[in-house]
Amino acid sequence: MSEPFDAVDVIRAKRDGGVVPEPALRWLIDAYTREYVQDAQMSAFTMAVLLNGMSREEIRVMTDAMIASGERMSFAGLGKPTTDKHSTGGVGDKITLPLAPLVASFGVAVPQLSGRGLGHTGGTLDKLESIPGWRASLTNDEMFAQMQGPVGAVICAAGSGLAPADKRLYALRDVTGTVEAIPLIASSIMSKKIAEGTESLVLDVKFGSGAFMKDFAQAKELAETMVALGTDSGVKTTALLTSMATPLGLTAGNANEVRESVEVLAGGGPSDVVELTLALAREMLTMSGIDDDPADALTDGRAMDTWRAMIRAQDGDPDAPLPTPHETHVVRAERDGVLTRLDAYDVGIAAWRLGAGRARAADPVVHAAGVDLHAKPGDRVRAGEPLFTLNADDAGRFDRALEALARSYEIGDTAPEITPIVRERITSA
Ligand code: URA
Repeated sequence: MSEPFDAVDVIRAKRDGGVVPEPALRWLIDAYTREYVQDAQMSAFTMAVLLNGMSREEIRVMTDAMIASGERMSFAGLGKPTTDKHSTGGVGDKITLPLAPLVASFGVAVPQLSGRGLGHTGGTLDKLESIPGWRASLTNDEMFAQMQGPVGAVICAAGSGLAPADKRLYALRDVTGTVEAIPLIASSIMSKKIAEGTESLVLDVKFGSGAFMKDFAQAKELAETMVALGTDSGVKTTALLTSMATPLGLTAGNANEVRESVEVLAGGGPSDVVELTLALAREMLTMSGIDDDPADALTDGRAMDTWRAMIRAQDGDPDAPLPTPHETHVVRAERDGVLTRLDAYDVGIAAWRLGAGRARAADPVVHAAGVDLHAKPGDRVRAGEPLFTLNADDAGRFDRALEALARSYEIGDTAPEITPIVRERITSA
């Protein structure tokens, strides 16, 4: 079969700052999925996009072409509204765990396709796999049945049929320094979410040291781009711009984050985790036509009941003890004062070095590894009190994690200004 375009012409057009016409862009994505266009050519194209950007129309076409590269799911036959959340990733971000059962306890179906951690950010599936027996891979039929039945919520791995163009492209971007381009992040995330078939979507777009987007203005541009893509495709989409300057909650790891999520489901837990869970739940319920207060389901046990049913439905035992570390090490405050800074990125690096994350996609994670935090910015500490507990399976991991933690915090005399987690809400214009 002769090909209608040449990859080199498309690369040159973007390299020279031009707009790639719709048929050529659609062909590029299709030909890359068929492995006709080679990785070397696609990496030149993605670098040209990183340097020269894309118009909103090009981003829309690219997203659409990535959706068309695979299957498109539909939950139209469920007989209840569907809603989903996507976070751009952060440190201590366990929000999906309490959020999915909380929202499902109001009779809304939640098809939460999730990922694994890479680098300093954690992954929802890695956290849930701390629960003995729990299974991340479901068939489409199992997923549909779980959403239709009394459980309502599913947290599972995305099947290989969903946006396969993105799978190839994301792996390529990861090793070519082209992850951080807004058009590429927006089309990557939204192609998967639109193909998944949810009716509504809330985006948790993070900014700050522990996020992909360090800068608020960039995070806002990403949020606006994704909200426009979702809305144009008929998915009701809102975004919250949330701070990732400091870790969420008091845990960064896997099993320790599951423990903290269960505390939230039991009506307790750290206030920042509760605040963000409820803010996202309100968006999801409102878009599903429900104006009840989600806080009630945390205090009356409904969200916990749904969590337990959701874990059991995927062969997990919600009552089984979670893995505990073989080795622990405590870092203590060196002076009296107030914690003025606790950097999300450095805590994430420490948890990763302890074994909670992976350096390569195929590496296993250590479920009991991670960092427990005993103080957050604004808390008073006394000399000798614990600041962090490091958890690992091998004490040989402590030194490098301690290097990261040593630069992660400051103790001063004046309490820092504590800013709200949710900075701004973006809806379609
Ligand atoms: N998450 C994704 O799925 N894609 C990106 O490009 C970045 C984060």
